Amino acid sequence: MSIAEKTTELQGQKIVIVGGGIGGAAGALALALRGADVTLYEHHPEFKEVGAGLQIGPHGVKMLKKWGIGQRAIELGFVPENMQFRDAMTAETILTMDFGEKFLEHYGAEYLVIHRSDLLNLLVESATEAGATLVNNHHVLDGVTDGDGVKVTVKNRADNSISEVEADVLIGFDGTHSLFRKKIVDDDPVPSAYVAYRGTSSLPDDPDMAGLTSVIGYIGPRCHFIQYPLRSGELLNQVAVFQSPRYLKSLVEGTEVPEDWGNNDEFRQAFTHTHEKIQCRQKHMWLDQWWQMTDREPLDNWVVNDRIIVMGDAAHPPLQYLASGAVMAMEDSEVFALFAAEAANRGELDWGKVLREVSVERAPRCGRIQTVGRLWGELWHVDGIARHVRNELFRQAGVDNYWFHYADWLWNYDPEARAYLKDPSLGNLPKGLEDWEYNLHKLERQRKDGAQPSDLVL
Ligand SMILES: Cc1cc2nc3c(=O)[nH]c(=O)nc-3n(C[C@H](O)[C@H](O)[C@H](O)COP(=O)(O)OP(=O)(O)OC[C@H]3O[C@@H](n4cnc5c(N)ncnc54)[C@H](O)[C@@H]3O)c2cc1C
Repeated sequence: MSIAEKTTELQGQKIVIVGGGIGGAAGALALALRGADVTLYEHHPEFKEVGAGLQIGPHGVKMLKKWGIGQRAIELGFVPENMQFRDAMTAETILTMDFGEKFLEHYGAEYLVIHRSDLLNLLVESATEAGATLVNNHHVLDGVTDGDGVKVTVKNRADNSISEVEADVLIGFDGTHSLFRKKIVDDDPVPSAYVAYRGTSSLPDDPDMAGLTSVIGYIGPRCHFIQYPLRSGELLNQVAVFQSPRYLKSLVEGTEVPEDWGNNDEFRQAFTHTHEKIQCRQKHMWLDQWWQMTDREPLDNWVVNDRIIVMGDAAHPPLQYLASGAVMAMEDSEVFALFAAEAANRGELDWGKVLREVSVERAPRCGRIQTVGRLWGELWHVDGIARHVRNELFRQAGVDNYWFHYADWLWNYDPEARAYLKDPSLGNLPKGLEDWEYNLHKLERQRKDGAQPSDLVL
């Protein structure tokens, strides 16, 4: 395997990364490629991802290419011909986003779908090849500044021994329940009433789906259903997402969430209003596990102090609608490594300054992705007249690739441009949408205004 050529700007800089998900592994790779001395600690006994497929838009593929592993990722995954949005009730295709030549020219990289474990393994192997040390089965108990550096307390879970490690900088890539995020803000996850079922099955053996070369997204009232190939077309990945009536009821009434929310009974009921093409796929889903869709409020500062920062889901866990959570973590990694390497090149490596610059560049962008993700999800799930208007807008967006107009801000990101540092207002919602209010915020506002559960409007 070959990775990008290593450089030496960060030689002698000791960096500890907490968390070995896609974010932490990408961070280890980007920094080791700039010559840093990186040690990553992962709590679990092995590097492992839960779930199956990931969509990596061109904004993510560009990061993989910078690190020299874009082609390998493409070989491990699948490059779809297009993405088709279909109305979940009629199965009509309302928008086809073609990923051919014009797309490549416009965005400068492919749209990739890849198995989570394949991407994580590739990042872990590449980071190791670049010289990073990735350690499993070690839990980071804390990290505090200590003079000109940071002291990290690490527990070896195999023998319960505890050691102190010194570093110049610590990056908390420790996921949505991050220990280090808590040092900035003591917030809670924002639960949506949506739940995801996932499943993979053999694609060539599937009479209805064999030969699939697209990402298909059926969108409909209170639900959606995604399908795409993985592993060069060997596997079919499917994700079924729906609003849990039991969870919604407890959210609206402010009562305790019943244990049976999102269970198999609800799953079976959730798609009865959708087209047969979706209903007949339910039997291919895993029934023993389901995932609640939650995010957190955007955070406008990711810096704990001059030596500690959070990135990845620790800083910006999104709802999954823009398929960009893992991509944002990869962009964070490249921006961090780039800004630090350039400062070192100029002979001005001041870690506090680098951390603040990373946060100022990244927080507005990721905040916008989190907020637009919520909006995009609501648009997918509308009913009644809104559904017909949405469908017509999607049809219009397909004419002459007009949809580029909506996707450019997301997929045309270049870390070297420092665009959000120069103009943080790029993180705002586009003109005309500034007044849009997330459903759950609307609920909260009405409740605070004294509305009774029976009067609440979503
Ligand atoms: C249904 C669904 C579909 C999605 N689809 C997409 C998609 O198509 N495209 C996309 O880009 N994103 C997608 N995402 C989002 C994406 O999966 C996440 O944003 C991304 O994986 C986050 O990576 P991370 O490394 O920041 O966090 P995590 O994957 O949560 O990794 C954090 C790691 O830190 C470890 N850890 C935590 N605390 C400690 C500690 N104290 N010491 C040591 N280790 C610790 C944990 O064990 C864990 O391994 C999706 C998410 C969901 C739920």
